[in-house]
Amino acid sequence: MIALWNLEPKCTNIALEKIHMYYQQRGESVVDYFPLEHHLYDKIYCSSLFDYTDKRQIPDNVICGGTGFDLTTTLPYEIDAMKPKLNMGFTTRGCIRKCPFCVVPEKEGWIRETGDIYDFWDGKSKEIVILDNNILAVKDHFKKICRQIKKEKLLVDFNQGLDHRLLTNDIADMLKSMRRKLYRFSFDSLKDENSVRKAIDILNKYEIKWSMWYVLTGYDTGPTEDLMRLELLKVHKQRAYIQRYQGKTNPFLTELSGWVNKSQLFMKYTFDSFLETRGTKRKVNDFLRSDYANQNKHANTKEYSQAREAGRAITSRGS
Ligand code: SF4
Repeated sequence: MIALWNLEPKCTNIALEKIHMYYQQRGESVVDYFPLEHHLYDKIYCSSLFDYTDKRQIPDNVICGGTGFDLTTTLPYEIDAMKPKLNMGFTTRGCIRKCPFCVVPEKEGWIRETGDIYDFWDGKSKEIVILDNNILAVKDHFKKICRQIKKEKLLVDFNQGLDHRLLTNDIADMLKSMRRKLYRFSFDSLKDENSVRKAIDILNKYEIKWSMWYVLTGYDTGPTEDLMRLELLKVHKQRAYIQRYQGKTNPFLTELSGWVNKSQLFMKYTFDSFLETRGTKRKVNDFLRSDYANQNKHANTKEYSQAREAGRAITSRGS
């Protein structure tokens, strides 16, 4: 008997689904792991996607894998070749970039095509989730996948986001023609300001409204830079979502997420007026004054003084 142990049971774990399919096709009994029956299993596979998930209780004889354990373990070829019809999956692996906060370059390497929607679409579902990390980097392949999705009249979710730096008129034209929930992009650093503006212009030109932008925080930015990126998105009527790299207990990021991650609140309030409705004693300027990370990083630079001034002005202005 084979036992499968998903340490984050709310998330679909594709590796475990492949293991399930592999053993089921060989007539094995495959069950969910139950600790009290540990002694009954021939093999136990455990998988985790996140490094912060508690792994202290895992016995020695369990086969572990997934990004939550390490970046090097891979499935044996014959298991990885399984194609469970989960209506979610990858058509490429890897990425062309090497963002320092991201595990994809180390885990998956350079981008390459690995399949298409028929590897994981069950032929019945009306929706499909594409998990590719940077599908726009292989433009012809992206267009092929879009054509398949359109042919099958599916609603698509490019779940991991699209690289705004690779957005062009012809890609936007294709995106406009797709049935979708919303498109996601990321605005990781103020250094990307120009490319973000350009991407928003293209989205507007093709009437692709209210896209969602992941805003990386707690990595190498502080309140000033975070608020400036958010303000740019808000002014251009884009939605935002705070992604915390670190700082789960950081009071600024907690307040910021409470404001930004509910689109209605983000659009309705400035950060200051949001803090007021919450009855929080701190104001935006208190957070800006305690922007130690940025003060250390940019100490005495002209750009930083300008950013602080701009941050104060824009965050206390309604829009
Ligand atoms: S573009 Fe996205 S997937 Fe690629 S390295 Fe950067 S964060 Fe990771």
